[in-house]
Amino acid sequence: MSMTTRFAPSPTGYLHLGHARAAMIAWQHARRGNGRFLLRMEDIDPTRCRPEFTAAILQDLAWLGIDWDFGVWHQSDHLPEYRQVLDDLMARGLVYPCFCSRAEIRREIALSGAAPHAPDGNAIYPGTCRRLPATARAKRLTNGVAHAWRLDTERAVASVPKLHFREHGAPVACRPESFGDVVLARNDAPASYHLCVTHDDAIQGVTLVTRGEDLLPATAIHRLIQALMGWPAPDYEHFSLLLDAAGRRLSKRDNAVTLRDMREAGLSPRDVRIAAEID
Ligand code: GLU
Repeated sequence: MSMTTRFAPSPTGYLHLGHARAAMIAWQHARRGNGRFLLRMEDIDPTRCRPEFTAAILQDLAWLGIDWDFGVWHQSDHLPEYRQVLDDLMARGLVYPCFCSRAEIRREIALSGAAPHAPDGNAIYPGTCRRLPATARAKRLTNGVAHAWRLDTERAVASVPKLHFREHGAPVACRPESFGDVVLARNDAPASYHLCVTHDDAIQGVTLVTRGEDLLPATAIHRLIQALMGWPAPDYEHFSLLLDAAGRRLSKRDNAVTLRDMREAGLSPRDVRIAAEID
């Protein structure tokens, strides 16, 4: 089977060096392996994503000499497909509506005296709404109370065999339970990153996922969703993140220098490659 890789930025700002690294690693794997390289816009959050950033991403990639196969996949065009996945999991009793606000969750965690954290650093949801009686649940849904949909992770894990994923060719055991009941959809965002990314990687036939090592822990949840949906597991290669001079990871929030800034300052795509630690 020939290799398919992808670069999946969120158009919430201009690309910086960290993105250049992610794009180049995925593109290089595909081109060296005579495979396909896909470009996917993770643009389901209408409050943060902007069309001008999508356009800028295409320009920046073209400047770097990165080309992609097929049209650009926009997640915002695929909301009904994500909804179908949610409906499927709902029909199997593997997701439940959660009516807790963020403040309520914080309060509940404080009251419990323990604050376990998932491997991605997020607090684990205490499971309040999982224990809600069916009648109360139905009543709130009928009354249109705002809610998110959470995966009943323990039940989901119990319904599939023991899971592994392949990281740089070596098996890594998954412990999705350590994430608790993750959100798969919200009122204001019709599908979560975990749901969309696993759906798209499967439907687009991605065989090798390359991305920053900050996303390595989340792969356990992705593997679980793949197993629940009968989707194939791609191979994974998580790479080290670039750090700024102060040793912090580059981020849009901290105004990391963008590729546009670098271009305007007279730097070449080759300079970017070197700065992005690409060989
Ligand atoms: N959209 C994610 C990011 O920009 C990438 C997710 C992934 O590669 O799975 O960090």
